[in-house]
Amino acid sequence: MCGIFGIFGHPEASNLAYLGLHALQHRGQESAGIVTSDGERLYAHRSMGLVQDAFSEDVLSKLPGAVGIGHVRYSTAGGSGLRNAQPLAVDYARGSLAVAHNGNLTNADELRERLEARGSIFQSSADTETVVHLIAQSAQRTIEDRVVDALSQVEGAYSMVFLTEDRIIAVRDPRGFRPLCLGTLRSRGGVHVVASEPVSFDLIDAELLRSLEPGEMLVIDKGGVRSSFPFARQEVRECVFEHVYFARPDSPLGGATVYDVRRALGRRLGDEHPVEADVVVPVPDSGVPSAMGFAERLGIPFELGLIRSHYVGRTFIEPSQSIRHFGVTLKLNPVTSVLRGKRVVVVDDSIVRGTTSRKIVKMLRDAGAREVHVRVSSPPTRWPCYYGIDTPTRRELIASSHTTDEIARYLTADSLGYISLDGMIDAVVGARGEGAEARARFCHACFSGEYPVEFRGQPAGRQLRLLGV
Ligand code: AMP
Repeated sequence: MCGIFGIFGHPEASNLAYLGLHALQHRGQESAGIVTSDGERLYAHRSMGLVQDAFSEDVLSKLPGAVGIGHVRYSTAGGSGLRNAQPLAVDYARGSLAVAHNGNLTNADELRERLEARGSIFQSSADTETVVHLIAQSAQRTIEDRVVDALSQVEGAYSMVFLTEDRIIAVRDPRGFRPLCLGTLRSRGGVHVVASEPVSFDLIDAELLRSLEPGEMLVIDKGGVRSSFPFARQEVRECVFEHVYFARPDSPLGGATVYDVRRALGRRLGDEHPVEADVVVPVPDSGVPSAMGFAERLGIPFELGLIRSHYVGRTFIEPSQSIRHFGVTLKLNPVTSVLRGKRVVVVDDSIVRGTTSRKIVKMLRDAGAREVHVRVSSPPTRWPCYYGIDTPTRRELIASSHTTDEIARYLTADSLGYISLDGMIDAVVGARGEGAEARARFCHACFSGEYPVEFRGQPAGRQLRLLGV
C-alpha cells in the first residue's frame, strides 16, 4: 500500500509535498520520496523510513521548483529496499520523468519479460518501472499520449502521478481500485494538488474539489487542469478494505467520511453478532469507530480497555515474524480497572494471520477479563490482494484454512463473530447514502475470492543487492 501526492504552481512545492506526505504516512512507512521540477530539470530525494526522518529542512531546500510529486511506500510488489523507493525518476530521450504509484499491476511480469527481451534494463524490481519503460518506448509524440499508450497496456490497480519538467499527470485506473483526489489551495490561487486521501489537503489548507473518477486522467500545467477519459471503460471496483482499515477515518472517501462508514460497520456487526457483555473495547486505533457503532447498537458501555503507545509504527509493518510478535505487547497495554471481572467484547477491523488477536485475547484475560468475545468489522480474510494491499500468502491467512470456530479456539476467545460480506457492503453503501446499484462497485476479493482482474504473476526475483546507497 502506498500514498501519493502531487502539487502544481507553488514556490514551496517540496515543503507542501512533505506536509502532504506526512498526512499520508499511515499508507506506508517503509520509504518516502519527493521529486520536484524547477521548469527545466527534476530534483529527487528518496530515503527509507518515515517522512519526518527521510527529509530534513536542508534536503527540502535542495528540492527547488513549483511542481512536485511525492510517495510513501509500504512494499507490495517488488519487495523492500531503497531501489524500489518512489517516486521513480529517469532521464529518457524526451527529457525527465518521475512517477509515484499506488496499487499493483497484475501483468507486470509479462510486460517486464517482453521489455527485457527487447533490451530494457530494469533498475528496480517494482512493477511501476514497467510503466516508465513503456512510456520511454512509446511511438506517441506528446507525453500525455505516451502515458495513455503505456497505461493501456497495463492491467490491475494504479492511481498514479507523473511529473515532467512542466506538468503533472494524475491517473486513476478504470476500475478505481485506489482513491485519488483533486484539491486546490485556499491561500493562493491557481495551485492544484492531488493526493491519495483528502486528509493530505487539510494539513496544507487546501480544499477538496472532488475525487478523480475511475479511468480519469488529469493534466495539470500552466494552462490549468484538463480532464479526459482515455482508457477503455471497465466496471468500477473500489477497494472496500480502504474503508474497513486502510484509509484514515477523517478522510471523506466516495461521499462519506471513513469514520462514519466504520461506525456503520460496527452497528451492522452488532445486529449480526449480538452478545451479552459488560463492556465494549476497541483495538486501537483501527477498531475504534466500529467498536463505537457496536456498543451503540447493543447499548453496552464503550471503554478504552487497551491503550496504544503512539511511538511505535503499525506492528504489521515489520516484515519479520519474530519482531511482530514482540510488537503487539510493545504497542498495546491493558487498562485493568476497565477489564477486571468483566465480560469484554473486543472489536477489531480484521484478522489476517490471527497472531495479533490471539495476543490481545491473552492480554485481556491476564488483565482479569472474565469473558472475551471477539468481533470483527470485516469478513474472514481468505484471499491475498493483488491490487495493492499487502496481504500475506494464502497459507498464512488463518481464515483460508480454518473455520470461525477453529479460529475462535486458536484465539482462545469465548466467541468470535465476523461481519458478513453482504453486511459489510450494505453498511458501506448505506453510510455513503448510495442506492442498491452501488453494491456492485466494490472489490472484495480478499474476502470473497472474486478477483475483478486476473493476476498474472510478479516480476521474477532477480535482484541486485544494493548496500549503502
Ligand atoms: P494479524 O495478526 O495478522 O491477524 O493482524 C491483524 C491486524 O493487522 C489487525 O489489527 C489489522 O488492523 C491489521 N491489518 C490488517 N491488514 C493489514 C495490512 N494490509 N497492513 C497492515 N496492517 C493490517
